Amino acid sequence: MSKKTVNCPTCNKPTIMDSSNPFRPFCSERCKLIDLGEWAGEGHRIAGEPVYPEDLDDQDLNKQ
Ligand SMILES: [Zn+2]
Repeated sequence: MSKKTVNCPTCNKPTIMDSSNPFRPFCSERCKLIDLGEWAGEGHRIAGEPVYPEDLDDQDLNKQ
């Protein structure tokens, strides 16, 4: 039987893609955390600016 494998998105090592690997598609918890950390860093940068949808709506109405 051949196991389905993919390359780990973080380190590119062949990774087993079945229920025996709780960290799939990553090869390990470490690689999963690294990837999530990078993703969270991107999100944090975007979310750093406070946004108030109601205020923005008022400004748009005043301009138009
Ligand atoms: Zn990995």
